[in-house]
Amino acid sequence: MKKIAVFPGSFDPFTIGHEGIVKRGLNIFDEIIVSVGANPLKQSYYSLETRKLMITKVFQDEPRVKVDHYEGLTVDYCRRHGARYILRGLRTAADFEFERAIAQSNKVLESEIESVFLLTIPEHAHVNSTIVRDIIRCGGDASAFVPDSINIKDYTGGEK
Ligand code: ADP
Repeated sequence: MKKIAVFPGSFDPFTIGHEGIVKRGLNIFDEIIVSVGANPLKQSYYSLETRKLMITKVFQDEPRVKVDHYEGLTVDYCRRHGARYILRGLRTAADFEFERAIAQSNKVLESEIESVFLLTIPEHAHVNSTIVRDIIRCGGDASAFVPDSINIKDYTGGEK
């Protein structure tokens, strides 16, 4: 059976930290669906379409990575797509506490789905979408924080 993982997130924007997790996940899973969580109650800087375009660009030569979006519960989305794994990245103890509560709740909702965590490499531990957004908003150069294939200046953001 094909091992499919969903990598859910806001990806606002997608960073080298996210890219690293997906690339390493490809050594474990047959297919990874990077799925942007579309939360109508949460303001995003980049539109859903822009975020998906950026991620698609990063993995344009990797057929095992699919890009999508979803609303609602992550476990329901996984079930619909035959994914038995939720992939997440960890940087800090704070990430761990946050992720622990989500993963344990998901386990109650759907016991068949496993959450799998990859610890970020030290070089990516400080990379954080919120900080990257602030740099962009203030006109700084964020290129060191996003994958090489994303020319961040080509994408227009703004409070949505
Ligand atoms: P969310 O709003 O779901 O937390 P994010 O886009 O912030 O969405 O993060 C998606 C996932 O990627 C989370 O598991 C987060 O911990 C992980 N992540 C974010 N930045 C990094 C990084 N620099 N290195 C490794 N994992 C990361």
